[in-house]
Amino acid sequence: MFMFTHDCSACDRTQLIFPSMITGATRTDAGTQVTFECWCGAPQTALRSAAKGENREMVAA
Ligand SMILES: [Zn+2]
Repeated sequence: MFMFTHDCSACDRTQLIFPSMITGATRTDAGTQVTFECWCGAPQTALRSAAKGENREMVAA
């Protein structure tokens, strides 16, 4: 999993979100939409765009 920062719409702070706080994740064409609970207790969603090459599999030459 991953951690990332999120600008919370409830407490108006940039919070560091840990994987343990994430309650759900949905893959979309634009990336992964994650739902989580902020440190302040507010439910939040964030769209994590898929970075180029992120899903590239390592291939042994
Ligand atoms: Zn918050």
